[in-house]
Amino acid sequence: MRTLIIHADTGYASDAVFQFQRNLLHEGDECLMRQLGESWDSRAAVAGAEGFDLVVLSGGDYEVTRLLHALAGSETAICVFPSGPVNNFFSGLGVAAEPFALARACRMGTTVEADLAEIAWIDDEGVRHRERFSLMAGSGFDAELLRAAASNRKAMGQAAYFLAAVANPAPPVIRFSIDVDGTRHQRDGIACIVANTSVIQGDIELVADCRLDDGLLDVIVLETPDAVSLIKPMLFGFLDPSGRNLGRPQIESFKGARVAVSASAPVALQVDGETKERTVSEFAVRVLPRAVRLIVDPMSPYYDEDAVGAPRFSGTELKRFPEP
Ligand SMILES: [Mg+2]
Repeated sequence: MRTLIIHADTGYASDAVFQFQRNLLHEGDECLMRQLGESWDSRAAVAGAEGFDLVVLSGGDYEVTRLLHALAGSETAICVFPSGPVNNFFSGLGVAAEPFALARACRMGTTVEADLAEIAWIDDEGVRHRERFSLMAGSGFDAELLRAAASNRKAMGQAAYFLAAVANPAPPVIRFSIDVDGTRHQRDGIACIVANTSVIQGDIELVADCRLDDGLLDVIVLETPDAVSLIKPMLFGFLDPSGRNLGRPQIESFKGARVAVSASAPVALQVDGETKERTVSEFAVRVLPRAVRLIVDPMSPYYDEDAVGAPRFSGTELKRFPEP
């Protein structure tokens, strides 16, 4: 097996990728590790990926999302390895996080064809932009939160997001006009988010039935009038991360492959956690179906038991309890 590991030393779980590597490699295997430095180009980092059987993306959301965009359309199996301060994309896959388990999943080679997405917008200076994303693009309060949390994220990880929410209790209410596959919805809220995967800080799923492999994006509107009411669903999220049982009355969602959003006032925009410098009034998003092949294990909701060449964990019968 030929493996390319692209590793970002974020200061979190910095030894784990080497444990993973020792477990992954058997005699006769080849492995190339590229360690990302201070500044790097994602296309250069994944150059030659098609010549490998496996590409491992080791980092946090910042590195993983950018490298995934660069790999869109590649047939090579990709293992997302969580070694950053925030690993929401990895959490959304539902794969076991231990280095040994991940190495085993890579040897089994079961993959899911996962969607990515693309957003286009014109900023308030009239400049056109087009970017791919893996997690979410969010407008309004969500983007303001991420901007406020950014300076603390390295030191505090996930807690920075919640602190930013408490520090900004009165975000403006915006009227969002949302076109989802040709159907128009008008909603008043503090944020409109288009999600490929809806896991946010704290392993909370914003909506219960968001899937990476359905060729659809989830449009999520936070209709709460202030951030204090938002804290409640966040705390509910801690009690029930799946979002299935407690309900999220302030959160409404739609599904579609093409989404166009216009806001009644210019709003902040974040794409995969990075808040853009300029505000926007309109943006459009489309799904990029089955853009990447990601390694999954039997813990993952994306694991297909009937996939060819996918043995169960050796000798262990795995059952969800309680059964869904
Ligand atoms: Mg989806």
